[in-house]
Amino acid sequence: MNYDKLKMLLKDQLGEDAVIENADMRDYTSFRAGGRANLLVIPETLEELRYTLYMLGRASADCNTCGGCSGCGGCSSCESPAEEIPYMVIGNGSNILVRDGGYEGVLVRLGDGFDYANAEPDGSLTAGGAALLRTVAVAAANAELTGFEFASGIPGSVGGACFMNAGAYGGEMKDVLTEVITISKDGSVERLVPANELELGYRTSALEKSGDIVVKAKFMLKKGSREEIENTMKELRRKRNEKQPVNLPSAGSFFKRPEGHFAGALIEEAGLKGLSVGGARVSPLHAGFIVNEGGATGRDIEALMRLVQNTVEAKTGIRLLPEVRIIGREK
Ligand SMILES: Cc1cc2nc3c(=O)[nH]c(=O)nc-3n(C[C@H](O)[C@H](O)[C@H](O)COP(=O)(O)OP(=O)(O)OC[C@H]3O[C@@H](n4cnc5c(N)ncnc54)[C@H](O)[C@@H]3O)c2cc1C
Repeated sequence: MNYDKLKMLLKDQLGEDAVIENADMRDYTSFRAGGRANLLVIPETLEELRYTLYMLGRASADCNTCGGCSGCGGCSSCESPAEEIPYMVIGNGSNILVRDGGYEGVLVRLGDGFDYANAEPDGSLTAGGAALLRTVAVAAANAELTGFEFASGIPGSVGGACFMNAGAYGGEMKDVLTEVITISKDGSVERLVPANELELGYRTSALEKSGDIVVKAKFMLKKGSREEIENTMKELRRKRNEKQPVNLPSAGSFFKRPEGHFAGALIEEAGLKGLSVGGARVSPLHAGFIVNEGGATGRDIEALMRLVQNTVEAKTGIRLLPEVRIIGREK
């Protein structure tokens, strides 16, 4: 199956608006930089997601030329090799950089049907994979549930936060997540996975290996005072606004924290605060952030990343590794 056939089938089933061709990923990532994706598909329901994943799985297995022989990896009638159509799920795009040459494949983003957060009387809170952490934090506060405040300023979705085990100010998803509902990458298997099977570690989880997609997550919180919860969130917001370049596009802390160190401190000590390449700059406010000062390309950002990595390594022997997930190809 080729892109045109896949596009047609997806548009038929999901509607025109749910399938965006040549999607400018600057509109879907917080860095506001980088290239396009051949297709961006936005399923609104579980059925649409399943269908999308099923068709994408088939698209990679089917013959490119005659459209037959599903699954053989090469067509027995015409002997043409199957066309690989890469695909992956994205969340709110707050930890992703798409290189300038774009993502040659299909990106899947959960739509509005996955954007909900419902608190239960027993202190649990269930949220869809596309719900923003901010939405979950507000729902928790409204229900007088405490424990999610740490995540209220992280600009990710529930799915992306589970995948990354996102954390801040002494808390992380691992502390509050009890289970997720996932769909396998080919759309065929739905599973309830207890959080302790997700191997949640520092900005990592088993979802990276499995490729499973989080459609729903359940958190367990504690009864608290709404006023205190809101005050904590306010205080954390104030700290973020003071310490982080929140007014410029970025993907948050660019590098993972190396054991026993802080990436920002190592970068600052290496004299790199404020360093720029094209439109990308090491934030003068927080050296752990690379910001897009306007018109930065993916190439600028990666060049600056390498400059920082090489300089810090030469001075300290420590190689900083990106926390940001870089996908797609060079221009
Ligand atoms: C200003 C700013 C501040 C930030 N501060 C913090 C912070 O304090 N702490 C922190 O941890 N992070 C922080 N981040 C980074 C980012 O917000 C988190 O990593 C967040 O969890 C990413 O979620 P997302 O929905 O944007 O995922 P994306 O960036 O879209 O994707 C990240 C990864 O998750 C995967 N993924 C996305 N959705 C799903 C899903 N439904 N199922 C399975 N996998 C999925 C993607 O395939 C990708 O590999 C910050 C970013 C910015 C821009």
